[in-house]
Amino acid sequence: MNNLTGNATVLKRVNRVRALNRLRFGGPASRAQLARATGLDAKTITNVIGELLRERLVTPREPNAVGRGRPAERLAINPDAAIGIGVDFGAGQVTVAAVDLEGNTRQRLREEFSAPKEARFLMRRAVAAVEQCIASLPPPQRRRLAGIGLAVPGILDRSGGIVRRAVNIPGFHNVPIVAEFQKRFSVPVVLEEASRAAALAEIWFGSGPRRRDFICLDLGYGIGMGVVHDGWLYRGANEMGGEIGHTIVQPGGARCTCGKRGCLETVASGKALGEAARKLPLKELGIESHGARAVSDAAGAGHEPARHTLTQAGRAIGMAVANVVNLFDPQQVILNGGLTKSGPLLIDAIRRTAASHMIHPRGRRCPIELSRLGDCAGALGAAMLPMRAYFEFDNIRL
Ligand SMILES: [Zn+2]
Repeated sequence: MNNLTGNATVLKRVNRVRALNRLRFGGPASRAQLARATGLDAKTITNVIGELLRERLVTPREPNAVGRGRPAERLAINPDAAIGIGVDFGAGQVTVAAVDLEGNTRQRLREEFSAPKEARFLMRRAVAAVEQCIASLPPPQRRRLAGIGLAVPGILDRSGGIVRRAVNIPGFHNVPIVAEFQKRFSVPVVLEEASRAAALAEIWFGSGPRRRDFICLDLGYGIGMGVVHDGWLYRGANEMGGEIGHTIVQPGGARCTCGKRGCLETVASGKALGEAARKLPLKELGIESHGARAVSDAAGAGHEPARHTLTQAGRAIGMAVANVVNLFDPQQVILNGGLTKSGPLLIDAIRRTAASHMIHPRGRRCPIELSRLGDCAGALGAAMLPMRAYFEFDNIRL
């Protein structure tokens, strides 16, 4: 445990956060179970829980009627204590999700566009979706709005709340997005990079035990990555860590939106597949979809050039995954984003190529899994941003 002594206020905060984390990730528990799990003594846990009950952050739940005697009162997070709203911006979509303090999704709205849109258009649609989302919440929840989290792909000034540049979304250039949402909604607004927000969602909403070391690869119109190390997001010295989409896979290759040539995004992203789709005889094949989906539909119809394009994209991503695994040695790689819906051809090519290039001691290959959060990972992660204060305290690991 952390060496914290002498500051009662700090200790109190830390104890609250530890109790809330245990309830959030371990489910309802009695005071005795909470004391065991947190290492706090009975008196301290009684005080902590008393305070959390008074603030209605926790609530009594039906006890487990097991064994003899009066069952101990069980406590749980009060889901209605706070609601976070998350907005995920993509070149061709806006997704909004509302999440309660217990992690239940209360609302999801997603709007997809047939072509990439510019920043002002996306922001207008996002504002409308957030208004619709808030209006759909029952009044008591509306009053407990903790804030709004915004997930934007690109280079951000997070503390200043400014999108410096998003190479795949024209118009996102020095946009004070946090101030604009704050003015509109009068609640706290937090900004995070989109791929990192998706990785946060895997920490908070992913299945299985709480993961601490994993990579989340965001395969959408662009390609991003969230690196989670020991339960924390890795950001890098300039908050640009994880720009895997702009690692070079074809020196001297096609020009990328970042200005360089041969980036991974030029051969394997939704944007690259969308360009490949223009060369396919979609009408002849009777395919009405567009962009990357048109390539996977053509591949599904047995069109050989489309199958080849998808396989090549999968191989390029697989190679990048192997490089990342060899660098970071994660427990798991999670794939999310729209491209994961491209079908088994792409995913199998990613898995096969990655597996054959990974260093894996004792024959244990790092598993590559598809996210179970679907299209909403970025929005769910963003929704947790204004609620992290309940579960985190400074840089103290709990
Ligand atoms: Zn690039």
